Amino acid sequence: MNYQQIKQLDDEYGAKTFARYPVAIERGQGAELYDTEGKRYIDFGAGIAVNIFGANDEEWKQAVIAQLNKIQHVSNLYYNEAQAKLSELICTKAGARRVFFSNSGAEANECAFKAARKYSYLKYGAGRNKIVALKNSFHGRTLFTLTATGQDAFHRYYDPFVGGVAIAGCDLESVKKAAGRDCCAVVIECVQGESGVTELPAAFVKALSEFCRENDILLIVDEVQTGLGRTGKFFAYEHYGVAPDLVTTAKGIAGGLPLGACLFYEKTQDVYAPGDHGSTFGGNPVACAGSHSILSRITEEFLLEVQGKSAYMRAKLKGFDGVAGVTGLGLMIGLDLKEKTAKQVAQDCLQKGLLVLTAHERLRIVPPLNLTKTQMDEGLSILKEVLK
Ligand SMILES: *Cc1c(COP(=O)(O)O)cnc(C)c1O
Repeated sequence: MNYQQIKQLDDEYGAKTFARYPVAIERGQGAELYDTEGKRYIDFGAGIAVNIFGANDEEWKQAVIAQLNKIQHVSNLYYNEAQAKLSELICTKAGARRVFFSNSGAEANECAFKAARKYSYLKYGAGRNKIVALKNSFHGRTLFTLTATGQDAFHRYYDPFVGGVAIAGCDLESVKKAAGRDCCAVVIECVQGESGVTELPAAFVKALSEFCRENDILLIVDEVQTGLGRTGKFFAYEHYGVAPDLVTTAKGIAGGLPLGACLFYEKTQDVYAPGDHGSTFGGNPVACAGSHSILSRITEEFLLEVQGKSAYMRAKLKGFDGVAGVTGLGLMIGLDLKEKTAKQVAQDCLQKGLLVLTAHERLRIVPPLNLTKTQMDEGLSILKEVLK
């Protein structure tokens, strides 16, 4: 099918929830993608920070195919090897005690929020159930995670919201005020992705972590976008030297297949019992096999390479006309623009063969982590041209 035919079907039958760019992506190799008309793109978006190893990664594909040839779905009523092996790998990499697998980032956060409430219920009884989230956060589209998303634009039409959620400013006094006396957890993104690639101040995160510890309030770190090497560490919270009680992750976890994870640490490891939470598809063996292939390659050496690429790209970007500032950590890069809007730059880049994302008024660059120097240079030169 060509672009027009695909667009026509989507226009007629899709639920119209997406403002799409006028392109249908058909295939790809690494950080190079092709649309239905055969046009080639350098990919600085990775399917919104999902395709850590780019498109069509051979090792990942072999792992997925091998699992597909065995069994494609196993109910969580039974054990399955792919899920068990991934549980061990991700817990070992993350220094976590246990993991629950879901299908998405929002569901991973639901799992964490429910776990926080149960933790508090078991220890303090009913009523200590408030979840505090931060202004400009993004935690997902389900009603609970949307309630905990500190951006009013997402809240139109959908009230009433879930009770027991408060939004605080990104400072300790504001969090304390929002927490009051019945708070069970605070949830943060170390780098707020959807609202502009804004890293939280180190002193705030440190102070928040101490406040949480002192008051037995659980610290939930949402690593859905920042996790799994994206920022040059396995998890972004490692940049901050804090120890979370629950970590959620998703986007990059399975090389493009839908999977999410909620990780439980010391305090929270025994919160859930059989029947408390569940998922039909969560921990699907095919997704888990793909994820194992991805996560086993996020080694210390690989993370150093990500840091090197980040330094290289940031140094170049700082020198571009039209760039007022560079934000974010690792290969999660935000650009403050001087004149053009982010939307305009993204559209111009698309035309010239570069896929980039926006996040509020910033341009957002989250390429596959294994993109090559040649691909970085090609993408950067298109961006430079557009920003001139
Ligand atoms: C994308 C994202 C989510 C939601 O993930 P879905 O898989 O779309 O449900 C949650 N939190 C953060 C930080 C995200 O970037």
